[in-house]
Amino acid sequence: MSALPKTSFAMVQTGIRELKGQDIPLPQIDDDSAILQIEACGICGSDYEQFEGALGTPMPVVPGHEPLGRVAAIGDRAARKWNLNVGDRIAVETMISCHTCSTCLGGHYHLCGQRRIYSYIPLSEKPGLWGSYSQYMFVDGNSVVHKVDPDLDPRIAVMFNPLGAGYRWAVEMPGTSIGDDVVIMGPGQRGLASVIACKEAGARRIIVTGLAADARKLALARELGATHTIDVENENPKLRVKEITGGRGVDVVVDVSSYAVEPIVQAMSFVRMGGVVVLAGVKGGRVVPDFVSDIVVMKEITIKGAIGVTSSGYESAIRTIESGRVPIEKMHTHDFRLEDAELAIKTLAREIPGEESIHSCLVPEF
Ligand SMILES: [Zn+2]
Ligand SMILES: [Zn+2]
Repeated sequence: MSALPKTSFAMVQTGIRELKGQDIPLPQIDDDSAILQIEACGICGSDYEQFEGALGTPMPVVPGHEPLGRVAAIGDRAARKWNLNVGDRIAVETMISCHTCSTCLGGHYHLCGQRRIYSYIPLSEKPGLWGSYSQYMFVDGNSVVHKVDPDLDPRIAVMFNPLGAGYRWAVEMPGTSIGDDVVIMGPGQRGLASVIACKEAGARRIIVTGLAADARKLALARELGATHTIDVENENPKLRVKEITGGRGVDVVVDVSSYAVEPIVQAMSFVRMGGVVVLAGVKGGRVVPDFVSDIVVMKEITIKGAIGVTSSGYESAIRTIESGRVPIEKMHTHDFRLEDAELAIKTLAREIPGEESIHSCLVPEF
């Protein structure tokens, strides 16, 4: 790899719905950190929320929390700890946790009270390159990183992020295994990733719900392994799930829909006695009308909240992508230059007529 440049071009969020290109000095690395040359940065609903100012993140800031890239420089201790050399391709996890508090040591490092999150650390905090809307990103010594096959197309390899969520939320947390029936609510990139993960886990029936406007995504869900799809606006989802499962209900329900609260109530009717419901879609703080807690008691439903992804989910995702046995590239719809980050976010948020994003990413130019 050639010598590092003095600066990195990055898109900086300077205000609500405001991104500006800027050259930011590349730092000297210390013994414990690294510099990543970004090959692709995935974007998701959180990017839109950050862009809108809904997350209250400090500004100015370099957004981008789904980085994939090559190690451009690395400190000696970091190289030993992560078993990495310059040139290796890695996926970097979003959370920078302390790895010493009781939450971290209890195996829940993604919930660490001291955690910092890439893309939400302001430019004013040295060295400023804390996000991957950039040619280069600083990799803090407390990061968790994963090696990725260098021969993969980076736009596909960067899907380690949504697929990692699919593994954690739809397989690891509910304990989905061979023969299980699953309902996945919401056919966005994380719902589709959940389909892939459940299929890999050996689920029997994989049912995906969506709106009439999601017809294309529901068709893709079937291509990726869904056995049934339900258009909740034109079908009765409760009756359909009953029909499909012979009246028993499903073992697992995963809600990855955002803002809509109806799926929470529906999930309680879809799940079988003693089944598991994973709630992974945030609802913007809305309350859920018509939620009857007695159903949870009577059916002994286990409800789990899921935020973020941990190491094992990412590892499963990376191994699945590397295996080439899943046509995950069918989920990839758009890639954009860094300069077009705003267009990428608006496309994701359906603000660009005629464009429908499933998986989108930014690909820096050099
Ligand atoms: Zn994301
Ligand atoms: Zn901690």
